[in-house]
Amino acid sequence: MNSITFDFNLSALLRPNIRQLSAYRCARDEFKGEASVFLDANENSLGSFTAEEWNRYPDAYQQKVKEKLAELKGLSPANIFLGNGSDEPIDLLFRAFCEPGYDTAIITPPTYGMYEVQAAINNTPVVKALLNSDFSFPLQKVLSAIDTKTKLVFVCSPNNPTGKLVEKQDIATLLQAFKGIVVVDEAYIDFSPEGTVLPWIELFPNLVVLQTFSKAWGLAGLRAGVAYANSEIIAVLNRIKYPYNMNAFTQAQLLETLDKNQKMKQTVNELNREKQSLAAELRKIEMVKEVYASDANFLLVRVSEADKVYHLLQNKGIVVRNRSNQPLCHNCLRITIGKPEENIQLINALQEINKQLP
Ligand SMILES: *Cc1c(COP(=O)(O)O)cnc(C)c1O
Repeated sequence: MNSITFDFNLSALLRPNIRQLSAYRCARDEFKGEASVFLDANENSLGSFTAEEWNRYPDAYQQKVKEKLAELKGLSPANIFLGNGSDEPIDLLFRAFCEPGYDTAIITPPTYGMYEVQAAINNTPVVKALLNSDFSFPLQKVLSAIDTKTKLVFVCSPNNPTGKLVEKQDIATLLQAFKGIVVVDEAYIDFSPEGTVLPWIELFPNLVVLQTFSKAWGLAGLRAGVAYANSEIIAVLNRIKYPYNMNAFTQAQLLETLDKNQKMKQTVNELNREKQSLAAELRKIEMVKEVYASDANFLLVRVSEADKVYHLLQNKGIVVRNRSNQPLCHNCLRITIGKPEENIQLINALQEINKQLP
């Protein structure tokens, strides 16, 4: 893989106020080495009133977690930012690079809704390049949409809600053509690990890869997201984050879960197998018009009357995601792969609904 051919100037891409910002230094930032008496941060020295003690501030830079994660991914801790879900790095990227009301971001609908919400919060205009009709990445449309105000391009791979991986060659072409930041959101990449572009952060100074502990790692309740990039971009995110943005409990749980990489891969294989059998069962139902191939832990399913099916499923206590109002997703439901017994329940419910429909 070739690197970029242009001079990448991170500092010039940043908002002027961020370029000049000096970060808040929290109590432990200035201390390096061994100590046993901590009287610097106004914590309650006597402890807390919970079964486990939480009276101390957490490590502001999550060093232990980053070391373990870096080893697993073959990177350096300096390439890693940890946040309160992927939402946090997404928000920080807007705040770092997009001057509100001026700079823009490109997204490729139908895609993850948070990019647009975070853009709106930051008053960043969003330029939309629709996916191609086969849900492939609209590379040409994206390239022609780029102009001098474009700071961020979001590439969701595998994409939510279509479940489709983006061709690596398309991402490479974009990285080589665009002098802003390319954000590749790999929230579902553990379900199709061959599709990752994570190793490219060594080659492309304009690449940010987002991953999360919410999906394959099964830790959605903890809120733990990861941004990987070259150390300069990571340093910018560190400068603008909340000082103690990841709590001590989450850090401890991440340390524990990172020892269970094999278990995670087993679960992924199980879910991928379950996905194939669910897809086969769905295709047997008359009102199911199409089940799209998926590289993630959900299926996008086109039915004859999505709104009706959605509500009838809800009446039976089954909640799926109605995506029929998204572009290219007319009459589409997004269905997460459940436990085997939940998937059977879903199929039975859909068979009953199928009989009710005209
Ligand atoms: C689920 C999901 C995430 C993860 O969000 P968290 O805030 O880390 O839970 C990120 N991107 C996409 C596309 C997702 O579907």
